[in-house]
Amino acid sequence: MEPIKYFLRGDCPGEYFECSRLSATLTKSSCADMWRQARKEKDNFRLHHCRNCKIGAMHAGEHEISTSRLSGKRICARCHRPSNRFISDNICVSCYNRQQEWLKGKNAKGTKPIKQRPLKPMSVPYVTGDELHIARAVLAESTNEMIIRMLRDSQKNVRFGFYRKALAIEARELVSD
Ligand SMILES: [Zn+2]
Repeated sequence: MEPIKYFLRGDCPGEYFECSRLSATLTKSSCADMWRQARKEKDNFRLHHCRNCKIGAMHAGEHEISTSRLSGKRICARCHRPSNRFISDNICVSCYNRQQEWLKGKNAKGTKPIKQRPLKPMSVPYVTGDELHIARAVLAESTNEMIIRMLRDSQKNVRFGFYRKALAIEARELVSD
C-alpha cells in the first residue's frame, strides 16, 4: 500500500486525501463511514469499491479486517453461484433441495439422485488473529465448501492449514469431556 498523502483544505474541517478507487477527494472520516456502511450493507452496489478497501479499514480503525475477495459476497458456499436466498445462511435453495433429495435417497421423480456428491460431517481448523478455531458443519460436500464459507463470512482475515494443532485440541476436548 502506497503511503497516503493527507492535506487540509482552507477552512473546511478534516484531513483530506485522494481516493483512487472512487477517483474522489475524501476526508478520513467520510472514508471510514463509507467503509463501515459498505461492510454492513452487502447488497449496496454503490459502495462495492469500499467494501474490501484496506485504506477504508485503516481509517475506521480496523486492522485485521478480511481482505478476501469473497468477503461479504452473496454466493453459495457449495455451488459458488450468486444467490439472494440462503438456507442456514449458507447454501442456495437449489443446493438445499438436492441435499434433501440425497438425504431421502430419491428425487422428485422418485429415482435415485445422481447430482449430489456424497455429504458428510466436516470440521476445518482455521486461525483468525492469533486464535485457532474449528469450523464445523453437520453436512458438507467438500473442504472447499467449508473454506469458501469462512472466506465469505469471516469479518477478519482467515488462515488455514493447522490440522495438527487442531487435532491436539480435539484430543484434549475429548479427554476433558
Ligand atoms: Zn448452491
